[in-house]
Amino acid sequence: PAGRKVLIIYAHQEPKSFNGSLKSIAVEELRKQGCSVTVSDLYAMQFEPRATRSDIVGCLHNSEEFNYGVEMWKAYKRGCLSSDLIEEQKKVQEADLLIFQFPLYWFSMPAIMKGWMDRVLIQGFAHEFPNCYDSGLLKNKLALFSFTTGGSKEMYAKGSINGDIRYLLWPMQHGIMHFCGVELLAPHICFAPEYVSEEEKKEMLIAWAQRLKTLWKEEPINCSPEWYFK
Ligand code: FAD
Ligand code: ZN
Repeated sequence: PAGRKVLIIYAHQEPKSFNGSLKSIAVEELRKQGCSVTVSDLYAMQFEPRATRSDIVGCLHNSEEFNYGVEMWKAYKRGCLSSDLIEEQKKVQEADLLIFQFPLYWFSMPAIMKGWMDRVLIQGFAHEFPNCYDSGLLKNKLALFSFTTGGSKEMYAKGSINGDIRYLLWPMQHGIMHFCGVELLAPHICFAPEYVSEEEKKEMLIAWAQRLKTLWKEEPINCSPEWYFK
């Protein structure tokens, strides 16, 4: 794994949080392996989550009627994206593995991370019909969703009140990453860190560090409807 490049996209406000600890463990363990690790600490960067006109520098392709997707696609081709986006795209381009580290918000990722997806993974850069899914423009990269929940593992079982945790991974893993050509490593889920014992918290952190040690030997999941809904 030495020489592999990892980008951690991290969304938590508090460095002392459980997510902060998971992020630090990943940075430390992967660096120890000789990987080069970059972190996009979205709150610390005050990353802009809104998809607006300000994402295009200079003239618009059609100033009469604003279409974000089309304008971003054209601006990407012209090299007229705002500098924060060019920087994130460069980090993505260089990375072999993207790790998304976040607390689950409303069965999804926090808005700041969704904003990162909306603004960074634009047409022309990440996908360009018919280059989507297995032929998406970010093919030959891996992604791993690492997140924490408030609900317990039992609440996220199939048939339980929240339903199988995999149902919520469909939009994030398949709808976004796979759409862009990225292959998925199995998600890493720490259930209810706020409600478990100190002992269990320590165990969850150790389990993450352990998993990272053999991460590069893992095969991607078969990211198709069966994985999520069978
Ligand atoms: P923290 O509270 O930071 O961590 C738990 C404890 O671990 C803390 O006491 C912390 O000090 C301690 N800790 C940190 N590092 C270490 C360490 N190294 N060793 C020992 N202890 C440590 N949950 C759901 O299940 N589904 C939802 O749809 C959902 N929606 C939400 C929407 C919103 C807007 C919000 C705010 C929350 C939602 N939640 C939901 C709950 C949320 O997912 C959890 O609160 C979050 O995942 C907990 O992670 P954390 O990192 O913030 O935990
Ligand atoms: Zn898929």
